[in-house]
Amino acid sequence: MSDTRPRIAIIGGNFAGLTAAIKLSRHHAVTVIDPSRHFEWAPGIHEILSSVKTPQSLRLDRSAIVKQAGHRFLRDRVSVLDPAQGRLVTAGGHELQFDACIVAVGALWNTHHVPGVARHAMPFRSVADSQAIEQRLDSLVREGKPLRIVIAGGGLAGIEALGELLRRHRNDAGLSIELIESGARLLPGLPASLDADLRRLCEPYAVSFRTGTTIASVSAKGVRLADGTRLRSGLTLWTAGLAPPTLLRESGLAPPPQIWADVHATLQSRHFDNVFVVGDAAQLPHAVGKQAYNAIDMGALAAANATRWLGGRTLKPFKPAPRPTLVAFGDLQTYLVAGRTVVASKALAGAKEGVYQVFMAQMAPGNVLTSLPAAAGRLWRSWRQLTLPQLMSLADFRSLPDFRAVRLL
Ligand SMILES: Cc1cc2nc3c(=O)[nH]c(=O)nc-3n(C[C@H](O)[C@H](O)[C@H](O)COP(=O)(O)OP(=O)(O)OC[C@H]3O[C@@H](n4cnc5c(N)ncnc54)[C@H](O)[C@@H]3O)c2cc1C
Repeated sequence: MSDTRPRIAIIGGNFAGLTAAIKLSRHHAVTVIDPSRHFEWAPGIHEILSSVKTPQSLRLDRSAIVKQAGHRFLRDRVSVLDPAQGRLVTAGGHELQFDACIVAVGALWNTHHVPGVARHAMPFRSVADSQAIEQRLDSLVREGKPLRIVIAGGGLAGIEALGELLRRHRNDAGLSIELIESGARLLPGLPASLDADLRRLCEPYAVSFRTGTTIASVSAKGVRLADGTRLRSGLTLWTAGLAPPTLLRESGLAPPPQIWADVHATLQSRHFDNVFVVGDAAQLPHAVGKQAYNAIDMGALAAANATRWLGGRTLKPFKPAPRPTLVAFGDLQTYLVAGRTVVASKALAGAKEGVYQVFMAQMAPGNVLTSLPAAAGRLWRSWRQLTLPQLMSLADFRSLPDFRAVRLL
C-alpha cells in the first residue's frame, strides 16, 4: 500500500533539525538528512582541549535517535534543494520529493577571506576540530617545542578555548597565548565587566590580549597583524565568526543581498511557503542569537508550524525565551550573565555541566522521552528549567561558596 502521509524533509540533524524530528508525529513521513553519523554537543567541545570531555561523551548516534522517533535517517549531504518543485537531491544521488521542508543546516567556519587562514589556522566548530587541536598541542609538547598559541576571536568560543588551554597547560614552561579580537573588548555583546574580570584572572599567566586588532594573514610560522606586527605561533586557532552554508543561496532561500535565509517570525521562508528555516541558518525579522537553545526552540516551533501549514491552519510566531549565558573559563571561573547582571562562581560550572548531562541523557537513544512525541514536551520543559537558573534568586546565588557579583561597567 502506498504511503499517503504528508512528506516532510529535514535537512540537517543537529540541535534544530533533530528537535524538529522528535517533535513531529508519525502521522508524517519524515526523512532527516545529514552527512554526519553523530549528533554533536558543540557547546562542550572546548573541554576536549583539556581532556575533561572525551569526543565520545559529546556525541550521540543520530540514526538511532531518528529511528526511535519513528522516522527515517539518510546519511548524506543535500546538494540541490528546489523548493518550487518540492524536491531535493543528495550528493549520494538520492532524490526526494517533499510537501514541506525544514532547513536546519547551521553555520560554517568563517575565514573572512584572510590569506592563509584556510591552510594554516585550525577551525574550532566541531568535535573533530577540537580533537585535531588537542593532537597538535600534544605533538608540540612531545617535541619539546614552546607552546606559542594565537587565538583569533575573543567571543564565547575563543574565551572558552582559552580557559581550557589554561586549565591544561598553564604550568607548562614556554606557554604563551596571544588572543586577538577585532572588537573593542572581549566577549562583545556581553557586559563590559567580563572583559576586565577575564584580564585580571589571566594576569599570572603568559596571556596577552589585543582588542581592536585584526589579523592580515596567517602562515605556518604565525600571524601578521593589520599594523604589520608579526606574532610567532605553533598553533593558530581561528574562532572568528560564522559563514552561511552555500545551499541557502543556491536554493533561493537567501537571495542577495541576504546572507542567511530570511524568514517570517513564524520561521516560514519569505520566498517559499513550503520551507521553514531554523537555527543558525535562519535570519528572523528581529535579531535572535545563534545559540543552541534558540535552535532547539526553533526546531520545536518549526515542527508545529509545518504541521499547521500542511493542515491549512494559522502559524505561530517564534518568541525567544530569555535565557542567561553561562561562560565557562576552564577551572578558573564560570560566569552567569542574565541581562546586565553578572555573577561569578566556580560552582556555576555545575550548572553548565547539568544542562549538558540532562540534555544528552534525554536525547540518548533508549530514552522514552525521545521515543514518544507526546512526551517530548517534558524534555523541553526540563531543559528550560535547567537553562533558566535566573529563576534562582540573588539570595540563592549568595549561598554559593565563592559567589561574587561582578561590578557592571
Ligand atoms: C565552540 C562553540 C561553542 C558554543 N557554545 C555555545 C553555548 O555555550 N551555548 C549555546 O547556546 N550555543 C553555543 N554554541 C552555538 C551552538 O552550537 C549553535 O547555535 C547550534 O549548534 C546551532 O544549531 P543548528 O541545529 O542550527 O546547527 P548545527 O548544530 O550547526 O547543525 C547543522 C547540521 O546540519 C548539517 N548539514 C549542513 N549542511 C548540510 C547539507 N547540505 N545537507 C545535510 N545536512 C547538512 C550538519 O552536518 C549539522 O549536523 C557554540 C558553538 C560552538 C562552535
